[in-house]
Amino acid sequence: MSARRDSSSQETFGALADFDVSTLAQRIEAWGCKPSHAARVLRAFYDGADPAGVSAQKLPQGLKDRLSQLMSERAATLTVRQVADDGTTKLLLRLRDGRTVESVLMPDYRADRAAGCISSQVGCAMGCDFCATTKTGFERNLTAGEMVEQFLALRREAQAVGRKLQTIVFMGMGEPLLNLDAVLAAVHRLADNSLGALGWRQITVSTVGIVPGIDALTATGLNFNLAVSLHAPDDVTRGRLLPMGKRFPIADILAAADRFQASRGRPVTIQYCLLAGVNDSVEQAHQLADLIGSRRMHINLLRYNPTGLSLRGVEYAASSDESAGAFADVLRSRKLVALFRRARGKDVDAACGQLRRREEALR
Ligand code: SF4
Repeated sequence: MSARRDSSSQETFGALADFDVSTLAQRIEAWGCKPSHAARVLRAFYDGADPAGVSAQKLPQGLKDRLSQLMSERAATLTVRQVADDGTTKLLLRLRDGRTVESVLMPDYRADRAAGCISSQVGCAMGCDFCATTKTGFERNLTAGEMVEQFLALRREAQAVGRKLQTIVFMGMGEPLLNLDAVLAAVHRLADNSLGALGWRQITVSTVGIVPGIDALTATGLNFNLAVSLHAPDDVTRGRLLPMGKRFPIADILAAADRFQASRGRPVTIQYCLLAGVNDSVEQAHQLADLIGSRRMHINLLRYNPTGLSLRGVEYAASSDESAGAFADVLRSRKLVALFRRARGKDVDAACGQLRRREEALR
């Protein structure tokens, strides 16, 4: 089966996503209605009710009129949906200012579950050399509501194929820790039992290693997961791949991850994207094992989706199966937990930022 693309979809999501219970209660009170309606209205919205569904509830007519006005605003509109042979679904959502962001739904090996990946910024300033998003630079931070819209869109997609959206990772376009207030506001709404009802442990925030941001996450005391993208076992190689690496040495990043892990009691995940001839040698596997040492961290080995010539003029390629296998064998022989993450959606614009770049070029 070939990839399916539906660019005619024009689903609209309400601007109610911009509110949490407290701010909607204030708005409702300002309209002269009981603020206690706020939780029920938002619950219906998160449950996937359409505007008529929410406004059909037993609410004062004046409030229904106001809500329908509020819900006619468009916070994000689904403009492109790509479904790969493996079921991975890439969504491109258009924001109110015309910019676009990507979200991804990944089917789990269990037939009834799926995982979602949410963007936190339009573009990205981190400059990771192997990433398609970096080529468009940074445009702006997303609001919490725009991240909630992505979650709701992903959940609808999952439901449409008989799956439950079980986990979310903030790992799409952008560096979440450079938009921390909005990310935390979104995380609260996604986890909240009366709104997204996802649960804290089902949410992961992923970072390239912004040390003050990791410490800020630790200080929240919130019980979500942390993933750190390392991608190299030494600062020189990492600095070439991730310019931000020059600002925060690996030792400092791992020390911050240690602090997060100690405060939560659950393993931090180390993300490591295997690039042929760059970071995938047996020697580098041993270096990585030395770095992790006796830490109880999990290592996710990612298969690279090529994105063409990089900003530095490098054409990165995925590691061969032999190199990737040998790399994992070393880690496991050193008693580390190393798991492969499959390359997803290879027959569509699978790498982060690719779909957006192509659609922007067509406009
Ligand atoms: S990999 Fe992530 S942090 Fe790095 S440039 Fe791409 S979107 Fe930004």
